[in-house]
This record gives sequence, C-alpha cells and structure tokens, in this order.
Amino acid sequence: MVVVMEPDAQERQIEAVIARLNEFGFDVHRSSGVNQTVLGAIGVHPDFDTRLIKVLDGVADVHRVTEPYKFASRTWKREDSVVQVGNVAIGGSEVVVMAGPCSVESEEQIHASAQAVAAAGATVLRGGAFKPRTSPYAFQGHGIKALQMMREAADAHGLQVITEVMEIAQIEDVVRYADLIQVGARNMQNFPLLKELGNAGKPVFLKRGSAATIDEWLMSAEYILAGGNGEVILCERGIRTFETYTRNTLDLSAVPVLKKKSHLPVVVDPSHGTGIRGKVTPMARAAVAAGADGLMIEIHPDPDRALSDGPQSLFFDQFEELMRQIRLIARAIDRSVREPSGSVLDS
Ligand code: PEP
Ligand code: MN
Repeated sequence: MVVVMEPDAQERQIEAVIARLNEFGFDVHRSSGVNQTVLGAIGVHPDFDTRLIKVLDGVADVHRVTEPYKFASRTWKREDSVVQVGNVAIGGSEVVVMAGPCSVESEEQIHASAQAVAAAGATVLRGGAFKPRTSPYAFQGHGIKALQMMREAADAHGLQVITEVMEIAQIEDVVRYADLIQVGARNMQNFPLLKELGNAGKPVFLKRGSAATIDEWLMSAEYILAGGNGEVILCERGIRTFETYTRNTLDLSAVPVLKKKSHLPVVVDPSHGTGIRGKVTPMARAAVAAGADGLMIEIHPDPDRALSDGPQSLFFDQFEELMRQIRLIARAIDRSVREPSGSVLDS
C-alpha cells in the first residue's frame, strides 16, 4: 500500500500515520522529497480497509498495490487454470460452447435442444430448472423434474450439464444432476451460497452481478476458492449501464482484464449480455476474438413461444451458423471450436 501525504503535511502528522501503520502490522518505508512525503506500507493484509488511513490528518491519498483476493489472482497462480467438466476442458486451447434453452420446459423441448447442441459441435447443455425471475408471476422453472429431463437429454447426446442453483437448499439436487453449477448474476454476492459451494465437489460457473465491479466479482470467486473448491469459471453476462438499446451492456473488455488479473477461465454469455437475438452472433464472434475460453448461448426449438427469454434465444439454424463463424475466428487466434457432428436440423 502506498500512502501519499499532503504537500503541507506536518512532521507530527507523518509520524502519526507511520505509528498507525505500524500498529496495523505494516513495515513502513518513508520517502520524503522536497514537497511531499510518500510512505510505502509493506505487509500482507488482504482485507485491510484503506479508508482507515485515508481519513487520517495530512493524508492525500492511499493506493493499494496488491489485490484484495489471493487464490483468484494471477500473482498466486501464474499459469492458466483449466477446469475439467466431465470430459470437457474449459480454459485450454479449445473454445467451449454451452448452449440450450433459458428454461427446461418439456421433454421434447430439451431433447430437441440437446440434439441441436451436440450436432453443432457444442459440448455442454444449459437449461434452467430453478429460475430467478424478476417477476414473481413469471414461470419459475420445473425444478427437480427439469433436472431429470436435462440429465437424460444430455446423456442421450454425450453432453455435460450446466444449471443454476439459487439457494443452499437446492445444492444437493443440483449437484446430483449437473456437471457444472451455475451461480446467476442475481446471486453473485450471496455469500452463504458461495461459501457452501466451496465444498460442493463440482465446478462452479460464477456469473457477474449486473452492477458488480471486476474486483467484487473476483472477491466472490475468492469465497468459493477459499472454501476449498478450486474449480471456478467466470462468466461475463453484461452489466447495467445507461444504454437502453440492449438489455445489458456486454463488457467484453472484462475478458482481457480478467485474463491479466486472474488465472481462472472466462466465458461470455452474449444472450443475456444483449437480450436481442440479432445481436447474439456478432457479440459471440467478438467474445471469441477478445480471448474468451467459452460461450454460453440460449437456443430454443421455437423461440417465439419460449416460456422465458425467447427474444434472445436463437433458432437452431442460427446457432449452427454462429458455430461456423466462431470456428473461423478461433482459428485466426490459434484456438479451436469443435467440428459439427451432424446437422442441427436432423431432429
Ligand atoms: C440464465 O442463465 O438463464 C440467467 C438467468 O442468467 P443471469 O444470471 O446472467 O441473468
Ligand atoms: Mn435466460
């Protein structure tokens, strides 16, 4: 931590700040120039509240030089983490695609979706069983029945399953049926849930809160990592800004920022990030170009009749085209996207 004193700081104020820093356990290196004194405070206190020093008399500014998180940081682990989800490796050279409906609605719907996901070359089936809806009157998901339907559909097509857990009481069921546990944007700072997922025994997919800074997001990842679960994937899904043309503002600059600050894999969700079907494919291309390790895409056999998020869900043929396009982008940056295994229209 660096403490910059005011140009007119009194010697007694400087000494008081040094004494306070020592009290907190920091070693202090003083550097006094002609006009100003700067104090370098050395010590590992990841939870230190810099305001405790900022409010002292004669202090102009305080800058943190180490991150407030440890296990999530690149300083702690220099090489990229690769999270294994069944037979799918996320964070390696392959760009992994997770796709499926917003909500699991029926057996026919989830089976048709799984078929399209697998045929297009994607490897993880998404689908909500417990849905966090803004309106209490909106469809809330089919719960455990949906988990069972999704597991069956995924197994029939050799796919992994990702689904959201909204509360501690659901963890046991979600862990039984899913390979990757999603924490949604609305729960990014549900600390009791994050702590519990620290010993879930399954990898966790942590979506960014719609008003969360990157540091807050990484602190949430830290809860899971510090709890003993090293398998965390971050997902950028758009943040709330003043812009109204899109549902959220997809912050693609978060990808290179995270890649520098953290070793964790980063996935981008352009479906929730834009909220509009026609904007999903361009932003998926951009996400791959920006260095995302994967994409999460909402698709539906009949999007205009979907029970949730139809307007941002792709038709199967649009998804097939998205996959074709991101394959080209991936190749340009020495990465790969799995080849299709058939036509999405086979089902
Ligand atoms: C979802 O993935 O369906 C979802 C609700 O996402 P988010 O938490 O990003 O809104
Ligand atoms: Mn959705």
